Amino acid sequence: MKTLFYHESFEYNENYNFENSGTNGILLDAKRIVCPTCNGTGSHFRNDLDENLMLDDIREDGDYDSMEAYQGGAFDQVCTECNGNNVIIEPTWEFAPRWINKAIQSWEDDKRQDEQIRFAENGYR
Ligand SMILES: [Zn+2]
Repeated sequence: MKTLFYHESFEYNENYNFENSGTNGILLDAKRIVCPTCNGTGSHFRNDLDENLMLDDIREDGDYDSMEAYQGGAFDQVCTECNGNNVIIEPTWEFAPRWINKAIQSWEDDKRQDEQIRFAENGYR
């Protein structure tokens, strides 16, 4: 199984032909893994609600109807990561070209550095 993988750092990487491939990414060996967002259930708690806050409220009010609805999945949405497929296709990183890991790593490092500089300049406000 193969999957296309793209990372924003590729645009500036000499190993990636951005002119030809654009943001299509490169083809990597891939495997199916159980979706880590929903643990393979295909759904998870709604993103627009705060699960802990809601549960606190329910417990405080002793609202058993809402608790039952919650446990029955009334506040769930289709998983945003796997689209309800229970599995996602992930690149097999062991077999991926090494420059990819390096590119992503240094991209993240740069981003962190930028943030620190911005932080230092603006102070804690
Ligand atoms: Zn999922």
